[in-house]
Amino acid sequence: MFGADKKKAEAGVESIKRGLILGQMQGWQLTVDKILDHAHQNHGHQEIVTRTVEGPIVRSTYSDLYWRARQFSNALLADGVQPGDRIATLAWNTTRHMECWYGTMGIGAVLHTLNPRLFPEQIAWIINHAEDTHICYDITFQPIIEAIKDKVPTVKRWIVLTDKAHRPPSPIADLRNYEDYIGEQSKDVVWGNFPEDTACGLCYTSGTTGDPKGVLYSHRSNVLHTLITMQVDALGCSARDGIMPVVPMFHANAWGISLSAPAVGGKLVLPGAKMDGESIYEMLDGEKVSFTAAVPTVWLMLLHYLESTGKKLPYLKKVVIGGSAVPERILRAFEENYDVEVIHAWGMTEMSPLGSLGAMTTPVLAQDHESIVKYKLKQGRAPFGVEMKITDDDGKELPRDGRSAGHLLVRGPAVAKAYFKGAGGEILDKDGFFDTGDVANLDELGYMQITDRAKDVIKSGGEWISSIDIENFAVGHPAVACAAAIGLPHPKWDERPLLIIELKPGQTATREDVLGYLNGKIAKWWMPDDVVFTDKIPLGATGKINKLVLRATFKDHKLPTIQAAG
Ligand code: ADP
Repeated sequence: MFGADKKKAEAGVESIKRGLILGQMQGWQLTVDKILDHAHQNHGHQEIVTRTVEGPIVRSTYSDLYWRARQFSNALLADGVQPGDRIATLAWNTTRHMECWYGTMGIGAVLHTLNPRLFPEQIAWIINHAEDTHICYDITFQPIIEAIKDKVPTVKRWIVLTDKAHRPPSPIADLRNYEDYIGEQSKDVVWGNFPEDTACGLCYTSGTTGDPKGVLYSHRSNVLHTLITMQVDALGCSARDGIMPVVPMFHANAWGISLSAPAVGGKLVLPGAKMDGESIYEMLDGEKVSFTAAVPTVWLMLLHYLESTGKKLPYLKKVVIGGSAVPERILRAFEENYDVEVIHAWGMTEMSPLGSLGAMTTPVLAQDHESIVKYKLKQGRAPFGVEMKITDDDGKELPRDGRSAGHLLVRGPAVAKAYFKGAGGEILDKDGFFDTGDVANLDELGYMQITDRAKDVIKSGGEWISSIDIENFAVGHPAVACAAAIGLPHPKWDERPLLIIELKPGQTATREDVLGYLNGKIAKWWMPDDVVFTDKIPLGATGKINKLVLRATFKDHKLPTIQAAG
């Protein structure tokens, strides 16, 4: 504990001894069912628009969601579901998926989102680890279900999120279709009535290092995270917004939007399974979406569609982009060509997930346009409710000078203190901070900039080269679709960067073109020792570059500088 905190704690103990008096306010437990109660009572007629997995776009309201979620609760209770049981979903962003969330959480069971982009064996591993009893899945995932159904003995009930007419043929004898499953149930159920620390949601990290680990959210952490996201400089949505989470509910809780949209009472637009540029545009334009959020790859597809059709974005005001660093060209395209404000966000499953957001401050806005762009490309500032610090390898805190890069540690009411079933052991430092595994700097204005994942950092001559910086500059080259920098062993420097490039379809570029383009943009000693081209840079289950695969693919690549150094 830091000196000041320790003193405060000691003073606290002292005041209890002296007869500390407790506040006299209500012990209103922070449970997520209250969010939907609120939406039903105060925004009951507000619209929810879903592109269904079956195809058509359907309309409902927060009150419809509220009543149907209660029917789902009763269906679970009729199945013998107990508080604490894990109910899994393998599903896109739709109203039915929202109903599963609230219906499960309301009765004290735990909603477990499964990521369908993982391999079936990984999904089965996670289900077994979580000991899920129910799996609710979209028809598009029937092949995954076929592949895992005999490998997950804890699952007692399979529910396909559709109606009788669309129920796919399946060898699962007692497979229920969702509409019939809830249709026969009453809408009368008691939600909440348990302590706010009760577990509420479960989401596994993607397991790029070792086995996936479960993050077990509580009702309290989810409600507090919702309040954090509602700050104007965080997601800052309102009842006047059309809110479309394109980021899937299985990817770190749709960044909290499935809880914060009903909390503010905005119109909710759910894009279902279709993420291509045209489908996303159809929802943005047709439903007058003013706020949306997703990873950069989704926005690349949308921008490509807009550029090829000449269409504009008259209703969209704000787009939150995170999950990986925002490339400069996406930022500039939205802000300069379409007049849409970009908020660069950073976070992780362990943080519920929001950690920082790039809303501007007065001193930044007083600067020229190009300087503002530099701030917008940083990962943003911590909202109230997130504490950050940067430390060196020995855990010593580094200055907030915008230059000193170190391990990024975080603390807050919506940050994990342990993984499910104790996986990974103790994960907090002595002051209660969680090491994010990211390497970053913090500046005087509170802006944080990620320079790397600790495991991806390229260590050259005792110094760190930021693979993210090299990649960000490389994708600025007009022919480059995607770029990845990895460190390869080097006898003199320890490691040197190899730059791997995926070109845009029909474009050409040489090693020399790319190096020439980077020249002058990054420090000389950061310049890649070699550039190679590949047809497709592999992406992981949440759309991030899979460096594990790249390191394996290029492990025998011989850097031309090795001979020169020898
Ligand atoms: P997964 O590995 O399952 O995708 P998360 O979605 O929780 O897990 O990923 C969190 C990690 O993603 C962060 O620790 C960070 O490395 C990376 N990340 C998230 N947002 C950004 C961003 N804006 N810029 C750079 N990296 C980011």
